Amino acid sequence: MADVERVHLDYAPAPESTDVVRLAPRYGLFIDGTFVEPRSGRELATINPATEEHLAVVADAGTEDVDAAVAAARAAADGWSRRPGRERAKLLYRVARHIQERAREFAVLETMDGGKPIKESRDVDLPLAAAHFFYYAGWADKLEYAFAGRRATALGVAAQVIPWNFPLLMAAWKIAPALATGNTVVLKPAETTPLTALLLAEVLAEADLPPGVVNIVTGGPATGAALVAHPDVDKVAFTGSTEVGKQIQRAVAGTGKALSLELGGKAANIVFEDAALDQAVEGIVNGIYFNQGHVCCAGSRLLVQESVAEQVLEKLKARVATLRVGDPLDKNTDVGAINSRAQLERITELVAAGVEEGGELYQPACTLPQRGFWFPPTVITGVTQSHRVAQEEIFGPVLSVLTFRTADEAVAKANNTRYGLSAGVWTEKGSKILWMASRLRAGVVWANTFNRFDPASPFGGVKESGFGREGGVHGLAPYVRLGAVSHG
Ligand code: NAD
Repeated sequence: MADVERVHLDYAPAPESTDVVRLAPRYGLFIDGTFVEPRSGRELATINPATEEHLAVVADAGTEDVDAAVAAARAAADGWSRRPGRERAKLLYRVARHIQERAREFAVLETMDGGKPIKESRDVDLPLAAAHFFYYAGWADKLEYAFAGRRATALGVAAQVIPWNFPLLMAAWKIAPALATGNTVVLKPAETTPLTALLLAEVLAEADLPPGVVNIVTGGPATGAALVAHPDVDKVAFTGSTEVGKQIQRAVAGTGKALSLELGGKAANIVFEDAALDQAVEGIVNGIYFNQGHVCCAGSRLLVQESVAEQVLEKLKARVATLRVGDPLDKNTDVGAINSRAQLERITELVAAGVEEGGELYQPACTLPQRGFWFPPTVITGVTQSHRVAQEEIFGPVLSVLTFRTADEAVAKANNTRYGLSAGVWTEKGSKILWMASRLRAGVVWANTFNRFDPASPFGGVKESGFGREGGVHGLAPYVRLGAVSHG
């Protein structure tokens, strides 16, 4: 086929209006159904990472605030767990509908506070967050079918700590199954992205969720540590880095608290020579540049079969050169801002290490905004197994490229990591997909696609990527105690 000349198109700016968002200058803590002043007297500021503009001040909860939030969740626990499942379902459906009604406001706020492109918050984060509430609303009155022959009862008070890469979506992943199974919740959002969780608090109150069923305490690592260590918590659910996950596991050990951990990843995206290569290139791009690579299951290691490596890399570089980097509120933007200065420093440091260790850097020419935190889409070729960029989670728009000759070698290289969250396989052969999927040590294996999510599908890791599942019927299990059904 003759080469088609590539035409570079300039896009006129198409910024989404921020008028729909009404920011308060200060936010309190959401405890027992209302916003209250922090007893700690401490506050922290949240900024827009694309502009470094100040957005709002939120409370930095101390131990006395965490005590109050856990006490409110405890007081509400009995009443909530005894409510008929259909009543809990009704409220969860209502929350889902309210999220849908205010979707635009949520999406714009998510993009302002976190830096992700508006087309992603609008088309991925928001629909999936609402879908999670809809999905678990459906289970709330059917728990006897989820656990056939067993009686499922709530654990009690769930302490939930979440990261900054999908702030609202992670809140939905945590809160929806906990409430459906009759638990009450204290949630701590990440310090750089607290605003959509606080808007969700407003929605929960609007939906008439009983006071104390969900409490939201903002703050930093110390707030999270106080929450997971609180003696009156029955269940801890954490999404974040493997390092902090290990600290939490140590803090919880021997206390009898139930624990689930969703941690880091270093997924292999494996392209065989018989794959539909143009489709695979789209999957590689989506796998690593979606949400600036701030994705635990990002396809951050490309393993490409040697026979097609040159061809794939040529197509990939041409495609990466067309990505539009810049204002996250612009509807054309593909790659937005890096979430924080600290994260930008980490990415910069790791990419420099990759080059120092012998990797070859490709970054397309792109003009980055003057203010804010930015990193261009990056491909590092010539990476070997021992390189830091092949082993450490970069959590940025950086793809490390390795090659392989045989399927066995692909499996060995893909599994040569301490993580095990996800993997991708690209091939025309169904038998090869099944052969690979049964050998890859990863919680999720995508075939001829990547980063596909559905509330009905379980998600979670093996090895140092954590344990426990979110999503699907499996996502109910971490929130229940199973007993025998009494026939009497
Ligand atoms: P992080 O672990 O630093 O922070 C996550 C949350 O934990 C934040 O709310 C933070 O305030 C809190 N925290 C920090 N120290 C704590 C402590 N000692 N005790 C209790 N809470 C504490 O992670 P991050 O940098 O915000 O997020 C990025 C990481 O999250 C990446 O490694 C990524 O892979 C992982 N992640 C995993 C998943 C998943 O589903 N497996 C999803 C998203 C992100």
